Amino acid sequence: MESVQIRCPQNRIACATQIAITFTKGIRQKRGEPAPYEGGGNAMNVDIDLIKSWVSNHRDGIVHSIQELIRIPTENRPPTGDEYVGQLYLKGILEGMGADVDVFSPDDVPELRHHAAFYPGRDYTNRPNVVARFCGSGGGRSIGFSSHMDTASRDPLPWLESEPFSGEVKNGRLYGRGSYDMKAGLLASVWAVRAVRELGVPLRGDVMVESVVDEEWGGSNGTLAARLRGHNPDIVVIPEPSHMVVAPAHLGVRIYRITLSGAAGMRFGGESFENPAMGASVVLEAIQSFGAEHQSRPLPAIYAGGDPPPVDVLAIHAQGYGVPRSCSIDFFVHFFEEEGAAAVESKVYRFADELRRHPRLSQFQIDLEPQSRFVEPSSMPADHPCIRLAAEALKALGRDGVVRGAPFACDGYVFNRHSPTQAFILGPGGAAAHAADEYVLIDDVLDLVSVYAYLIVKWAG
Ligand SMILES: [Zn+2]
Repeated sequence: MESVQIRCPQNRIACATQIAITFTKGIRQKRGEPAPYEGGGNAMNVDIDLIKSWVSNHRDGIVHSIQELIRIPTENRPPTGDEYVGQLYLKGILEGMGADVDVFSPDDVPELRHHAAFYPGRDYTNRPNVVARFCGSGGGRSIGFSSHMDTASRDPLPWLESEPFSGEVKNGRLYGRGSYDMKAGLLASVWAVRAVRELGVPLRGDVMVESVVDEEWGGSNGTLAARLRGHNPDIVVIPEPSHMVVAPAHLGVRIYRITLSGAAGMRFGGESFENPAMGASVVLEAIQSFGAEHQSRPLPAIYAGGDPPPVDVLAIHAQGYGVPRSCSIDFFVHFFEEEGAAAVESKVYRFADELRRHPRLSQFQIDLEPQSRFVEPSSMPADHPCIRLAAEALKALGRDGVVRGAPFACDGYVFNRHSPTQAFILGPGGAAAHAADEYVLIDDVLDLVSVYAYLIVKWAG
C-alpha cells in the first residue's frame, strides 16, 4: 500500500481493504487444519472431479467476490482511468493469500517509453499494476494469468436489467460493468490458486496472477510494462471472455474516423450546399460493402468454424444549429495475423480514396484519421501442451473443448510478439461487453476456476 500514491477518498480505501479481509478470512481460518484432500495432494492424483467439487463447495464465495469487485467502478476514460481502488482490493486479497505482490505504475518502468509498442498520451497517475507471484519449490514450469482491471465506461445509460455496478444475479447471470470483460475471469484465476493450495498440491513452478491497468481503448501499456518489469512466466492464460473456447490466436484491430466537411449554415433561400450528415448515409453504405468484402476471404485454419473479422461503425457525430459543418463516422476494422497490418492500412486508405471519387460526396472534404493504435494480432502454437491440457479439462467438465482463434483483439500480442512468454485466451461466456446490461455466465466462471486450477496442477505441479 505504501508504494502507491493515495488520492482516493479514505472511506473507499478502507472499504476495499475490508472487502479483501473478508475474502481471505476463509484461508486464515483454515491455517493449522489438515488439508481437506486426504490423498495429501499431488499433481498426479488431483483430478478435475476433485477440483470441481472444491469449486462447487465455494460457489457462493466466488460469486460474492465478483459482485464485490464489480461494485468498485474501475472505468477507463482515456487518458486517465479509475483502476486504483479495484487494484487495492485485489492487492489485499493476494497478500492475504501469501503472495509476493509487486505494485508499480507503468511510469515506474523506464524502458516502457522507449519500447516500439509503447502508446503515448496516457496518464498513469494512481493507476498501478498489481502482479502477484506464488513461489513454487523450484525446478518446475511457471504459469501466469493476465487480466486487466480497467473496464469500458458505464455508458450507454440507462441499463435495463440492473444498475451498472450492482453485481446483481438473475437466472444464472451476474450483471455489471466489467463482469464479462473481465473481472470474473480475473477472480477465477485467483480462486484457482486458492483451490490448488487448499487441495494441498505442492507446486514446483511459480504461479503469477496479474491485474494490469489501461487495456481498454488499445492502451496495452500496462501489460507491456509488466513484461518489461520482468514478470515473464513460461506460459500465460488471458481470461478475456472467449466463451470457453481455448484461443491460441486473436485478431488485430484499429479504429478509424472518416470526416466529411462542407459549408455550414441555414438555408434562407439561394444558398446551395450539401449536408455532410446526409452524406454520411453514403459512407455508411460504403463501410458495409467494405466490411462484406473484408469478411469474404476464407478463414485461416485456426479460425475455421468461427466468425469473420468484424468491421463495425462505433460512432457517428454531427451537430449544428442548421446544417452542420462536418460529420464524422468512427469504425473499426479487425484483421487476421496472416493479412498483416500494412496491408490492412493501405486497404483502408484506398477505401477513403474511393469515397473521395464518389459523385454524391464531391462537395465534401474527406479526411481519414486513425483513432487508436494498431492493436496487433498474434498467435502461439495450437499444439502447445497447455492448450491440450485446457481442452482436456473442458471436455472432462462436459464442455466442447474447442480450440479456435478468438474473434477479437486483446493484449495477447504483447506477450506473443514483445516478450519471451507465449499466451493464449480462455475466458467465460456472457454478453454486452462495452454495452448496457453486461453480464457473465456464472456456470462458466465456476468451470473456469476448475480448468485454471487443473492447468496450474498439471503444468506447475
Ligand atoms: Zn477485455
